[in-house]
Amino acid sequence: MRVVLADHAGACYGVQRALDLASAALREGGGAYTLGPLIHNPQVVESLAQQGAQVVERADQVRSGTVIVRSHGVTPQERACLEGRADKVVDATCPHVARAQKAAERLAALGCVLVVGEPGHPEVAALREYARAAGAEVHVVLSPDGLPSDLPERVGVVVQTTQRAETLQAVVDALAQRGVSAQVKDTICAATTERQAAAEALAAQVDAMVVIGGKNSSNTTRLAEICALSCPRTFHVESANEVRAEAFAGCDTVGVTAGASTPEDQITAVVCALQAL
Ligand code: SF4
Repeated sequence: MRVVLADHAGACYGVQRALDLASAALREGGGAYTLGPLIHNPQVVESLAQQGAQVVERADQVRSGTVIVRSHGVTPQERACLEGRADKVVDATCPHVARAQKAAERLAALGCVLVVGEPGHPEVAALREYARAAGAEVHVVLSPDGLPSDLPERVGVVVQTTQRAETLQAVVDALAQRGVSAQVKDTICAATTERQAAAEALAAQVDAMVVIGGKNSSNTTRLAEICALSCPRTFHVESANEVRAEAFAGCDTVGVTAGASTPEDQITAVVCALQAL
């Protein structure tokens, strides 16, 4: 069975930067807190825990010491709380996410901001709070169906960095149809679009696709959804242990891709497991 790895698979710039900053902070000793998982990859989070990183759910659970701000960023309120409590704040917010936060803050001048993204995702929560703290009314939408019925004549639109361009476009088109003037900041990250385009192209040419990454990873889940559209035999796995021979019976070629929060060693392990079938 031939195993083909997609272009642009695996850890993106922002995730690699967060991991490097965390490793450097942990090497100094004394441990460190992260507010929520540093990245959405359970195996990496487990490895960081063994090196002294403790995940807390709320900013007020940090008592002192070092805290690492995750790649998806935190709300302005959480940032203020962390800066007040920790001795040292290591900011691993991805610069692309930080740019989206600034866009949300600036768009607040329009009075109403739509955040296109998954409600409940920490990056989306932070975008919402940046716009809200700057005085805007904020709505989080994932499709035109989520648009409120009473929108003002002008709105700002910002988007979660890992969303699909089609999702943003659908919301923008729906606003135009309703005669709402939208100032759109397309903050979808190039790492996301590159991974999605490469995965989509590969999925159309293979008998089965394997998408590697955390089940809690938004960008990995989206990759799996995209691959499944053209390759129904798409499997989302977190590790090589989940590779089952029976799933690939009759396959000549299997494609592999990985989310932006999946490190190289996890990809290599899955590719080796597939090659060994
Ligand atoms: S996918 Fe893009 S925005 Fe998200 S962490 Fe990676 S580089 Fe940053």
